[in-house]
Amino acid sequence: MQIRTRLTIQFIMIVAGILLLSLFFIYFKFKGYVEDEFYNGLRSKAAMTAEMIVKNDAPKPMQESENSLLITFSENVMIYDDQNKLVYAFNHSQKGIMPEDLGEIRTHGYYRIAHEQFAGAGITYINKKGEHFIIIAEAIFDPRELGNLRNILIIDFFIIIAIVSLGGWFFAGQALAPVQQIMNQLSCIRPTDLSKRLPIENKNELSKLVTTFNSLLDRIESAFDQQKRFISNVSHELKNPLTIISTQLEVTLQKERSNEVYKNTLTSILEDTHTLANVSENLLQLAKINSEKGAILFEKVRLDEVIWQVKANLLKIHPYYKIAFEVLNLPEEEENLFVQANEALLKTAISNLIDNGCKYSEDKKVTITLDYTDALSVGIQDFGQGISAEERLRIFEPFYRSDQHKNRQGTGIGLSLVESILQLHHIQLEISSVKGEGSTFKLIF
Ligand code: ADP
Repeated sequence: MQIRTRLTIQFIMIVAGILLLSLFFIYFKFKGYVEDEFYNGLRSKAAMTAEMIVKNDAPKPMQESENSLLITFSENVMIYDDQNKLVYAFNHSQKGIMPEDLGEIRTHGYYRIAHEQFAGAGITYINKKGEHFIIIAEAIFDPRELGNLRNILIIDFFIIIAIVSLGGWFFAGQALAPVQQIMNQLSCIRPTDLSKRLPIENKNELSKLVTTFNSLLDRIESAFDQQKRFISNVSHELKNPLTIISTQLEVTLQKERSNEVYKNTLTSILEDTHTLANVSENLLQLAKINSEKGAILFEKVRLDEVIWQVKANLLKIHPYYKIAFEVLNLPEEEENLFVQANEALLKTAISNLIDNGCKYSEDKKVTITLDYTDALSVGIQDFGQGISAEERLRIFEPFYRSDQHKNRQGTGIGLSLVESILQLHHIQLEISSVKGEGSTFKLIF
């Protein structure tokens, strides 16, 4: 159901409920007043009749056949003596008052009764001689007045509900108009132009929603930009080595060359192919982490063994790297050296950090420290030029390479891959660096 319809229905229900309660209250209060007035009138008539007819003496009881008037009136007054004998009747009816009703009048001194088509009020009376009487004045209660009031109230109810329905529909529409406006503005925002933002017109509940939408749009825009940059970087990184390879091949094939030249060309092409393979491998791993998070297998791996293997692999490729591995504090239980990880990805992350440390320092020296003081941690310290605070904010961006290192071999994907792997493993990374002295990347498990 539409919110506007639901709001209107809820509004009508509330108003109808309150209205019904108040109309019922008015009707029953009024009915009470009308009845009280009617019975009070009868009561005074009974009292007046008593004063006039039995004040000094009791009349003789009336005979059954005795009828003071032959026509039936809409009113009647009757007097009964203490023996329940009818001693006076203004409009003698066939059926007398029930003895139980007379008993009730006697008990209460004043009592309302129903008698044939009449409604009556009965009172007790003691005359000068000390004789006890019951005087009943009765009349036909005319319900027309109440009926009219009931009809007026019913018509009134439906008129008010009709007005409330129209008003409710109008106000619900007014209240929802800004939401509709936001929806219209949002539908104008296309992926091709994500710079548009929703205007904040008034400070109200909806301005919070608009602010939330705008910050969502900020995030979407930056994600889109990042993706665009990533794609252009990827194509650039893949195109570059391919262009170099094809140019080298074209130049070499232009004329007959010596074996030496062919050998040099092939060596250079092999290097570029390695770079290409490296970029593709890193990109594949990055894509896998982002798209198949749930499918990545985690197992118990022994951290010190992982480091030994990474060190050995790196030394195989770069025998001139100087990698030292120290264990500062070993946990008492061997079990604490194990971590839940995807072994291949963890090795890639640690390997990239060690490789960077060696690559970006003149002496190609890195010290790895395994520590278990507060938590299990691995520190990778190099003695290179260090990383400035501004650079530290950018080095994890895909394809970022600092200007001073553009001449070194690299792709700029290494650290963004490290960041994704660490996030996947919930491993905290702390970087400390001093310009000119070196940097330490500390992984806290
Ligand atoms: P790559 O090493 O392929 O350039 P990375 O993503 O691993 O890509 O690193 C990004 C940039 O961060 C590097 O180009 C370098 O400028 C800087 N960097 C990374 N590690 C270090 C380090 N240990 N010391 C100094 N600079 C570093």
